[in-house]
Amino acid sequence: MIHAFTVDVEDYHNIIARDWLGREGPPTRAVVENTGRFLAHLAKRHLRGTFFVLGEVAETFPSLIREIAAGGHELGVHGFFHRQVFKLTSGAFRKEVVDAKKLIEDISGQPVRGHRAPAFSIMPNTAWALDVLADAGFAYDSSIFPIAGRRYGWPGFREDIHEVSLADGRKIIEAPMSTVTLFGKRLPACGGGYLRHFPGMITTWALKRIERNRPAIVYTHPYEIELPIGALDTSGLSPADASRVLRFHKLQLRNRGTVERKLAALLDAFRFDTLWNVIQRELSKTPRKASA
Ligand SMILES: [Zn+2]
Repeated sequence: MIHAFTVDVEDYHNIIARDWLGREGPPTRAVVENTGRFLAHLAKRHLRGTFFVLGEVAETFPSLIREIAAGGHELGVHGFFHRQVFKLTSGAFRKEVVDAKKLIEDISGQPVRGHRAPAFSIMPNTAWALDVLADAGFAYDSSIFPIAGRRYGWPGFREDIHEVSLADGRKIIEAPMSTVTLFGKRLPACGGGYLRHFPGMITTWALKRIERNRPAIVYTHPYEIELPIGALDTSGLSPADASRVLRFHKLQLRNRGTVERKLAALLDAFRFDTLWNVIQRELSKTPRKASA
């Protein structure tokens, strides 16, 4: 079984500054350095992955896009300014993804087929985003978590890679995020906070569990291997807001020192490829079935 290795290429510092501290600014060089470490891990093992990039990262660091493309990896879109879909009108969402797609294609010279929404924000109430993506020329989306999460999730959504039928006979492929049932609860176990907080053996167990039925989609972010990471400047915030952001920041840092080692162990233990290649392999296996 060959799994998909995916990275959502965003800069922690500019997103935290914008979303939590109310300060606008471009992505920082940290995103280039951290992504470079992923590229080195993949190159060392002759593996390829998919990098869903923010438009603002591509705009600020076009050489990073060329470096990813030169490594034989797939490039996808992760929005332009990391705005969750439920915060956008369909017109504004369309502009985010169209602008980012065009920019990344122009810089890399390769087609962009895939999309991952910031914070997995395609859910039942934002299902219209799939129509917008199909219309904008995306072949697939990989944003839906088939779980009942606190902040995200689409409970009951099909777990396998499949074509979704849209209005006017259009279709888009959905590659849902991988889940496992642990302690009686359906959880994301192949990336993000779960990879950070759980012992590495839990993630290995999860991949073995998932691969009985289908390939897993592992996901991570450049900042998850960034160390050391500086203190946040919370000046100007109310004490309540400052304590909220510091709590979030502390949770983000907990166990961060373990992530690179755990990811390297996964890359050694399992086989990985780009998500587009994994999708093509899966869809060629079984006759395509459309779902509503
Ligand atoms: Zn993101």
